[in-house]
Amino acid sequence: MIVLLKEHPDERQLDNLLGWLRERGIDVHPTVGEHQTILGLIGDTSKIDIDLISALDIVDDVRRVQEPYKNANRKFHPDDTVIRIGSTQIGGGSLTLIAGPCSVESEEQIVGIAKAVKASGATILRGGAFKPRTSPYAFQGMHIEGIRLLLKAKEATGLPVCTEIMDASQLPLFEDIDILQVGARNMQNFSLLRALGKTRKPVLLKRGMAASYQDLLMSAEYILAGGNPNVILCERGIRTFETYTRNTLDLACIPSLKTLSHLPVIIDPSHATGKAALVPSMACAAVAGGADGLIIEVHNDPAHALCDGPQSITPAAFDKLAGELEQIHQIVQGDREDVIIR
Ligand code: PEP
Ligand code: MN
Repeated sequence: MIVLLKEHPDERQLDNLLGWLRERGIDVHPTVGEHQTILGLIGDTSKIDIDLISALDIVDDVRRVQEPYKNANRKFHPDDTVIRIGSTQIGGGSLTLIAGPCSVESEEQIVGIAKAVKASGATILRGGAFKPRTSPYAFQGMHIEGIRLLLKAKEATGLPVCTEIMDASQLPLFEDIDILQVGARNMQNFSLLRALGKTRKPVLLKRGMAASYQDLLMSAEYILAGGNPNVILCERGIRTFETYTRNTLDLACIPSLKTLSHLPVIIDPSHATGKAALVPSMACAAVAGGADGLIIEVHNDPAHALCDGPQSITPAAFDKLAGELEQIHQIVQGDREDVIIR
């Protein structure tokens, strides 16, 4: 249930209402907007009399929220969530480019790619250290050494870093990591989600291969309900009957998730297609469709990459793509004049 308050509500009446709700075991999550404060009510609201609350002087409207996700719901939080990481931000109209290799392989590799993607306009560096591989015999990542090298690349370039966490027990190793990625295979690792809810670190939550929008939003809800508001949704392709592409990129998720939720939406065209040649067009389509950003695998030598080489684009291809994305983003933002001048 949500309670929409009138502008400048009387403080004593508001305190009384909050106390009355809490006495009934209801958790109240206020969202202060520019013109209106919204109280999100979580708990068993079935016995709360809507007419009684609606009749209060300070109340504008009361509505029931049918969806099981509350904190992630746009109705609870009408404004877009904007996540700030150092001098960059995710959401709120900016275009975030997260780029880097699937896996950290060496200092030379990660620092070199970091410098290249930064020069092309990437704002965040990606690189896996703990890799969730389908085969137990495949390269599993460099683990702690991978984290150390990723942090070296952060030091060398100033780029914030994003890397995958596979288990809650790894959290102490990720202290200096800026964005914790939860992989598609771990989207419903609820003990991990609960542990991330206790931190305040931004979490890039990837959609599971067979997860509905609601499943994804319920996983986000685990993190948000724990008190961490910094969740980024990521579509990375889902399993369908198509086998030409590695997965099927569901771009309808962008307007859908943005309607259902206030959380930023990032698209991963690399895992969604599995083919480097398809990445640029899908990346452009995602930005045209209103995505808040992209996470793209970039490798200096895709043919010899230890993981996901076939879907990795080169730094030169990323450079060309980043320029195109910037132009599309400006059109989407309505800044047409600027595009024409370029
Ligand atoms: C990755 O980002 O390299 C990765 C393993 O992604 P996903 O969880 O989407 O497969
Ligand atoms: Mn990968």
